Amino acid sequence: MAATIIDGKAFAAEVREKVAGHVARLKSDHGITPGLAVVLVGEDPASQVYVRSKGKMTREVGMHSVEHKLPANVAQDAVLELIDTLNNDPEIHGILVQLPLPEHMDEKRVVNAVSPAKDVDGFHISNVGLLGTGQKSMVPCTPLGCLMMLRDHHGDLSGMDAVVIGRSNIVGKPMAQLLLGDSCTVTMAHSRTRDLPDVVRRADIVVAAVGRPEMVPGDWIKEGATVIDVGINRIEVGEKTKLVGDVHFDSTKDHAGAITPVPGGVGPMTIACLLANTVTACCRANDLEEPE
Ligand code: NDP
Repeated sequence: MAATIIDGKAFAAEVREKVAGHVARLKSDHGITPGLAVVLVGEDPASQVYVRSKGKMTREVGMHSVEHKLPANVAQDAVLELIDTLNNDPEIHGILVQLPLPEHMDEKRVVNAVSPAKDVDGFHISNVGLLGTGQKSMVPCTPLGCLMMLRDHHGDLSGMDAVVIGRSNIVGKPMAQLLLGDSCTVTMAHSRTRDLPDVVRRADIVVAAVGRPEMVPGDWIKEGATVIDVGINRIEVGEKTKLVGDVHFDSTKDHAGAITPVPGGVGPMTIACLLANTVTACCRANDLEEPE
């Protein structure tokens, strides 16, 4: 049977609409406008595109949006000073430092300079620790978006076998923590995993976050399994290029239970979750009830 295509673009639009509703209520009932600051260092073209679209969507939901663009050769201390100013700015509730940073910077130091309460990317070591111990934290946006789509599709995930392929700090590891938090039986696979096809064939839920175009073929996927494809890979097709995921969509779509497309699956949910996290941070900063 053909898989249900999980429409991340439509779901993300719903999330953004809810966020816009919360923003409107925060303004009208409390006189507070949630604010998000994005710090971009250098001229990486992909990062510039992300930052532009984050700024546009932040404004569209009615939030205060600030972008700080610094040259690639800026001193690390200047970035740390800017973060300190933003940490102390009451109009800013979320701070995002666009990664990757130029090579002369210590990424861990910069990321950990952001106040944990304003760390809407969920990368600060305190938030990583809180998530790992099942406590209230800021949750990284991409895995949060994946979890929201899985909950929306399945309802209760408890007892399901989940395999996460990829163990990066920004996607694979927090994804596994979130699935564990929802009582899945979680396996984390990576480049040293033996018999990866067999491991993946056991899974009711497969999350692929590898960064290798169409690496997971359809015959690794169990009949009826749900496939969340995080990968964004640009490949050449003749004279043109196109985006594909880490899963081979065409050989999977006829027997998976559900699958996220690339583009239009996980990607749009990431920015929607960034906006949702900023509202959450704003509510926490003002001791107000936070949205679900
Ligand atoms: P990383 O490169 O940081 O991590 C990739 C992971 O894949 C590593 O853990 C690596 O294992 C594992 N891996 C590599 N090759 C294999 C293999 N042959 N078999 C099994 N595992 C393998 O990538 P990210 O987590 O940052 O990103 C993953 C993908 O997700 C990329 O395509 C990226 O563009 C995309 N992405 C999409 C986002 C979105 O919004 N949709 C946001 C963030 C990322 P090991 O640790 O052993 O090296």
